[in-house]
Amino acid sequence: MLRVDRDSLIFRYERVLERLETACAAAGRRREEVVLVAVSKLHPAAAVAALRAAGQKDFGENYMQEALQKRQYLSAAQKAPGEAESGQSGLRWHFIGHLQRRKAAQAAGSFALIHSLDSRGLAEALERRLASAGQRQSVLIQVNLALEAQKSGIAAEDLPALADYVSQACPHLDLRGLMCLPPLFDAGQAARPHFARLRALRESLRARLLLPLPELSMGMSGDFEAAVAEGATLVRIGADIFGPRPLAQSMH
Ligand SMILES: *Cc1c(COP(=O)(O)O)cnc(C)c1O
Repeated sequence: MLRVDRDSLIFRYERVLERLETACAAAGRRREEVVLVAVSKLHPAAAVAALRAAGQKDFGENYMQEALQKRQYLSAAQKAPGEAESGQSGLRWHFIGHLQRRKAAQAAGSFALIHSLDSRGLAEALERRLASAGQRQSVLIQVNLALEAQKSGIAAEDLPALADYVSQACPHLDLRGLMCLPPLFDAGQAARPHFARLRALRESLRARLLLPLPELSMGMSGDFEAAVAEGATLVRIGADIFGPRPLAQSMH
């Protein structure tokens, strides 16, 4: 287990909360309209536990194996006798990474929200699993706005067909909105047009599907202020809370 420097973690977390508050005020939005998802990928469960103790509830993970292991560790750690309530309770896990179809069964029903639905095949695999388990799953469709080959997400032109499929053929999937990951070189305010575009795509889907689609998952460490200005309801922040990510190997 990696050591967690609790004081700097909490210090960084509080700076992010302040920035988020300032961004909401600047955009004329209430702070409660925006959920902060702390992206804990490649950081130890102990860091999640420390943030949970400081009041953070929503956590985002990218890799299925790591996400499930971390959750298991946290629920085991919290089963100490005499605890008034299990410390896991109140934790909401978000899956934000690329979801492979063969991992759909593990993902279905395990997360408060899957942000990264990006193909009909994946929707089909999730639906099949959820139907047989009698569960429902909230999802966002991830849109690849700049059509970057290395990123997952569906092309904007294919979004209506996927959204139609999910709303018509997948009764166990609750489509809640859209997610995007703007190109890296468009950091900060340069990312704002991408966020505006995601919002516009959401508006046209709303009219098409007659669904509320309340969620826009957009904004990371470098650009969340711009995302909040464009209507983000979920911001996904990793590095500015947890510090630089350790190398992938050190986690496994
Ligand atoms: C890693 C990651 C984040 C967090 O990025 P930071 O730059 O560390 O804030 C957000 N969203 C997704 C999809 C990620 O993979």
